[in-house]
Amino acid sequence: MLIKKTYKFRIYPNKNQVELLAKHFGSTRFVWNYFLTERKQSYLESKKSLTFYDNSQALTVLKKVDEFNWLKKVNSQSLQASLKDLDTAYGRFFKKSAMFPKFKKKGFCADSFRCPQSVKIVDGKMQIPKFKPIKLNVHREVEDKILFVTISKTSTNKYFVAITCEVENNPLPEVNKAIGIDLGIKNFAVCSDGTIFENIKTTKKYAKKLMYEQRQLSKKQKGSNNRAKQRKQVALIHEKIRNVRVDNIHKFTTQIVKTNDIIAIENLNVRGMIKNHNLAKVIADASWYETTRQLAYKSGWNSRKLVKIDRFFPSSKTCNMCNFINQNLTLKDREWICPNCKTVLDRDLNASKNILKQGLNIISGCGTQSEIKQKRNEASGFKQSL
Ligand SMILES: [Zn+2]
Repeated sequence: MLIKKTYKFRIYPNKNQVELLAKHFGSTRFVWNYFLTERKQSYLESKKSLTFYDNSQALTVLKKVDEFNWLKKVNSQSLQASLKDLDTAYGRFFKKSAMFPKFKKKGFCADSFRCPQSVKIVDGKMQIPKFKPIKLNVHREVEDKILFVTISKTSTNKYFVAITCEVENNPLPEVNKAIGIDLGIKNFAVCSDGTIFENIKTTKKYAKKLMYEQRQLSKKQKGSNNRAKQRKQVALIHEKIRNVRVDNIHKFTTQIVKTNDIIAIENLNVRGMIKNHNLAKVIADASWYETTRQLAYKSGWNSRKLVKIDRFFPSSKTCNMCNFINQNLTLKDREWICPNCKTVLDRDLNASKNILKQGLNIISGCGTQSEIKQKRNEASGFKQSL
């Protein structure tokens, strides 16, 4: 089975290369914003939707205009890739799987560009069109066929390349095991087999430091040098937290996929939750999103089945022994006794067992969406009208 894998390496551009990279970030961003405006205007004025092909032709013309000839200084394939990305963003919007494409601002995660062709890694250096070889920190061999690379700059002024390759993949052997996972705040995850994955302590340590540095930032005068310095300090801690967190999630998801054929998790409404401003919650929400993302692609690579449970399924309130639904359970109750069968239930372990049960039901076709709806209604005290 051929799969796509992405490896990320830090790159160390010299001064000239930094300048040329900045031109690439700027020009690809310009192309995105320019053609986003074009597309919007065309639709407003004539109800005509421009295509990638329309944009691509217009770009060729634009480059010949004196005012825009600086676009010739960057790799034309990267500009085309920016148009392709815009087209994809439109496609996602029309399919209702994403918001309407936004304008890109300098900084704000938009300092990146794609290089779709003619990329090579030779002697620890990366070769891409328009650039002299850029020093690269290769911590693993890339022997596979490179499809494209994305070069990015972080808010802490580090440069990275993400190399996407086509790789021959051998799926893991079957193990005949199924697991339910309850992702939480108190613990990172509690599994139906009783395994508990704790939150990593480093994150907590950094979270404290982050709160301190953010307070310092709020005291600095707007527009001052000190404020800029402090902002970088805050960005550095954010970066550290993210790295530790993602690394930990990789260990977790790899282990889960290795040791189970069926994996059941709750389908959480992450977009809605991220609006919360409590820091621990924000980190947990971001982790949920990343964990689900990793489980999905790692399951795909290894022919594992990942089942997502409706987020309204009352996994915490249902007794996994007798299916009694406890309406009185509050968020504070870490442990409860089922009023019906008298079993002592640990909140998270009980939830993970219910998630597994529901996952297996869905796979075997018993747990239909209407059953979930009925359970949800029972949990919230409704009576079904039919
Ligand atoms: Zn019970």
